[in-house]
Amino acid sequence: MVAVDEKYIEELAHKVSEKLSDHRFEHCLRVKDYAIKLAKQNNLDENQAAIAGLVHDYAKERSASDFIQKIDEKGLDPDLKNWGNPIWHGVVGAYFVQDELGINDPEILEAIKEHTTGDKYGKMSVLSKVLFMADYLEMGRNFPGVERARTLTDESLDAGVFYQLSSTLSYLAGQGNPIYPKTFTAYNDWAQYLA
Ligand code: GDP
Ligand code: FE
Ligand code: FE
Ligand code: FE
Repeated sequence: MVAVDEKYIEELAHKVSEKLSDHRFEHCLRVKDYAIKLAKQNNLDENQAAIAGLVHDYAKERSASDFIQKIDEKGLDPDLKNWGNPIWHGVVGAYFVQDELGINDPEILEAIKEHTTGDKYGKMSVLSKVLFMADYLEMGRNFPGVERARTLTDESLDAGVFYQLSSTLSYLAGQGNPIYPKTFTAYNDWAQYLA
């Protein structure tokens, strides 16, 4: 088990703080802490989990034109342009993390891309599941059912992931929001295994 590299994390935290409002930076610190807890419970590299948690929303406060520019620069799927910040800050945000923070670990970058929508059962790494759940369960979250979701996730990371996929899909549909295709695909795939 690799321990958390405190000095590197501190330097990274400083860079992240410069690009985010206080409230969102504090969310990132809490996601880092929760990701470390879930990493310990699931035999995952704590340092990798801490880094992923700290930087997962790094690009969340960029403008639409910054995201559009990045989509063109990296030659990403042009359909992305039909979506907005909730989808862009993960899928496209990972490229800001790579280009500006110099993080090249492909598992971390993939986990950031998947942190809002999840992905198919067989496609999500343990790191990706840990980040997905840490973002949902960090100690500042207080939605109805959060304690139940924390307990469930302590018992089984996979059960937690499916709970979140199912709750988020119902919530978005209840609000009449458009659902990103990958969110649907992820839910349907997990439902085959865990429903
Ligand atoms: P945050 O960045 O810490 O606020 O959390 P997330 O990255 O998990 O989610 C960002 C927002 O995207 C939340 O409001 C989610 O409800 C929303 N979201 C998640 N999946 C979808 C989707 O498929 N479509 C749309 N329109 N929004 C989504
Ligand atoms: Fe996010
Ligand atoms: Fe999330
Ligand atoms: Fe987040």
